[in-house]
Amino acid sequence: MNGIDLVIFDCDGVLVDSEMIASRELAAYLTDLGRPTTGAECRAAFTGLSIQSVGEKVRGAWGVDLPADFAAALRERDRAAFERDLKAVPGVEAALDALSARGLPFCVASSGAPEKIRHSLALTGLLDRFDGHLFSAAQVARGKPAPDLFLHAATAMGAEPGRCLVLEDSPAGVQGAVAATMRAHGFTGASHCTDATAPALVAAGAVAIHPTMADFLSLLL
Ligand SMILES: [Mg+2]
Repeated sequence: MNGIDLVIFDCDGVLVDSEMIASRELAAYLTDLGRPTTGAECRAAFTGLSIQSVGEKVRGAWGVDLPADFAAALRERDRAAFERDLKAVPGVEAALDALSARGLPFCVASSGAPEKIRHSLALTGLLDRFDGHLFSAAQVARGKPAPDLFLHAATAMGAEPGRCLVLEDSPAGVQGAVAATMRAHGFTGASHCTDATAPALVAAGAVAIHPTMADFLSLLL
């Protein structure tokens, strides 16, 4: 892969197939709190956002009065559901093997809290691959779609932003990568993606779309 010194993976919806589970849990919780909604509505509104940003948007745009422990309670629901249902995205291990074989560094940059990223990667057998190379929106002032997290990851990994490739499944993530002057590629291989996902990622600035990890891997060969 010419001109690339670092691959930055989003976690949810790229490394782990978590968005269907998380949107289902969020919809169930908001419904319990008196705002009936569906997983599909939650995916459309909140994919790629941190729990803190989700809470702000539900309180603001949706006008829902949330309990003070909303974020903690939602994290606990997600944690239990992930332990039951979470799987790696198909083909991730082969893609990481190919990067390692070519000596191309990679890391993860996620809107999730550090302990959530570690938990998701541990449940799916991927944690060892990212040891010491995990970056969370909790480490920077502004989460995606701001560029802060991607720039922080590039600095920590010793890579120039212009030589980083970011693989993202959400418009917010693609926008953050573009704002960081990185090469943003869209990934549409997770189970929550629909026919509308790729056009939304292109509109956000993705320069390529990969429907599978094997397609992404073909870039490297
Ligand atoms: Mg994502």
